[in-house]
Amino acid sequence: MTQLPVHDPATGALIATLPADDAASVAACYAAARAAQAAWAATPLADRKVCIERFRAGVVGQLESLAVTMTRETGKPIRMSRNELNGLLPRIDFFLGMVEPVLAPEQVFDESGMREVIQHEPLGVVANISAWNYPWFVGCNVILPALLAGNAVLYKPSEYAAQTGLAITRLLHEAGVPPAVMACLVGAGAVGTALLEQPVDGVFFTGSHATGRRISQALAGRFVKLQLELGGKDPTYVCEDVDPRTAAESLADGAMYNTGQSCCSVERIYVHEKIHDAFVAAFVNTVKGLRRGDPMREDTYIGAITRAPQLEVLEAQVADARAKGATLLAGGARGAGPGNWFEPTVFSGVDHRMELMREESFGPVIGIQKVAGDEEAVRLMNDTRYGLTAGVYTRDEARARRLLAQVHAGSVYWNCCDRVSPRLPWSGVGDSGIGLTLSSYGIQAFTRPKAWHLRAA
Ligand code: NAD
Repeated sequence: MTQLPVHDPATGALIATLPADDAASVAACYAAARAAQAAWAATPLADRKVCIERFRAGVVGQLESLAVTMTRETGKPIRMSRNELNGLLPRIDFFLGMVEPVLAPEQVFDESGMREVIQHEPLGVVANISAWNYPWFVGCNVILPALLAGNAVLYKPSEYAAQTGLAITRLLHEAGVPPAVMACLVGAGAVGTALLEQPVDGVFFTGSHATGRRISQALAGRFVKLQLELGGKDPTYVCEDVDPRTAAESLADGAMYNTGQSCCSVERIYVHEKIHDAFVAAFVNTVKGLRRGDPMREDTYIGAITRAPQLEVLEAQVADARAKGATLLAGGARGAGPGNWFEPTVFSGVDHRMELMREESFGPVIGIQKVAGDEEAVRLMNDTRYGLTAGVYTRDEARARRLLAQVHAGSVYWNCCDRVSPRLPWSGVGDSGIGLTLSSYGIQAFTRPKAWHLRAA
């Protein structure tokens, strides 16, 4: 049988060897899911909701051990693992509260014996291919509304968060979701490829732009619903009317939280020339105070880099920025091994010739660029092929709204950053993806509206 080795990114130690899937087991899971889906869809919504309520109770009851599992396999600092699990609970509550109104049939016409009704049917069997950086969030953003809406889910967690993927699946089974309706497929990209070969009814992917492209190519010519939630190069503009220290502390957190490995991490900062120097000094001071080390320690803020190959991406961006004249103010190199470590790194004097300002860093590396005013800031914020999030820090709400209305991004922030809400749609424009999760639209995404024309005889 194929196996998946799991390494602790903080130490490099082998911590588990998991039985992995192959093309035959993926096909068998698909066949079982297809056979079981209709009965799941016919189960009353109230009963499906009870399963998700029990799942929530399971997460609460096992929160500490689930946090430890996630920290060990991803290198995420333990406090942030707990934050993610605690942050999942209001998402679950949101889905449970919204699913009934979203799935309720809508009568849109009733005249002279003719009625028109929209009914929201499940898609059928859906594939969820997922990332490792927030495995509970990105996994459950798809799995929970998909199950609530009556779909069967074939879930391929990242190979870097496979134990967490198995824990999510186990808790759902313990909560009463039939095993055939919710399957976890363990393995790397080849297992994802095998999953895409099955005649699924929808593909919901969270991961890198490069893999998203491959997935959309693999599905070319097949009329399957496809959602891609990809990376970003998320900018923030700091205006001259804010307190530079307060803004710097907020944005240092936005750039470095989860060791910079968030899809909505702040990845580029533009600062008005009037407060640029004060902002940079405060930012560097904040970053130098972040504690890096053993992710299991309570006071660790900067953990390990989850994927070893990302270290080379970060090194290349640093080398490119230095070669093109940027000023290195903090960090700039790998941390001492064993394990995957990178120092929190801050550059000023950057510009858009540099990879650091163009391609996702996905690590604790940030560039700060001085701008002369709003027009230049908006032009630079939009000088990207990505469009996940963007922010403006200013005291003036009207100014923020005016600027953010011009920025191409799925989510925009005024005086905040690196924030996701279950009540709002989560989506990207351009190369940050297509489709969305969360909000009422993120439940509807797992349904197909069927049109009923009804005339009484
Ligand atoms: P990745 O693209 O390397 O992997 C994602 C998933 O795809 C994994 O499960 C992987 O095994 C699978 N996969 C790889 N090759 C495949 C193939 N050819 N066919 C099918 N499946 C395949 O991404 P990652 O390193 O896990 O995640 C980091 C990326 O995810 C970053 O770019 C980040 O910005 C992005 N991300 C986006 C969001 C969002 O909501 N927009 C959320 C989290 C992460």
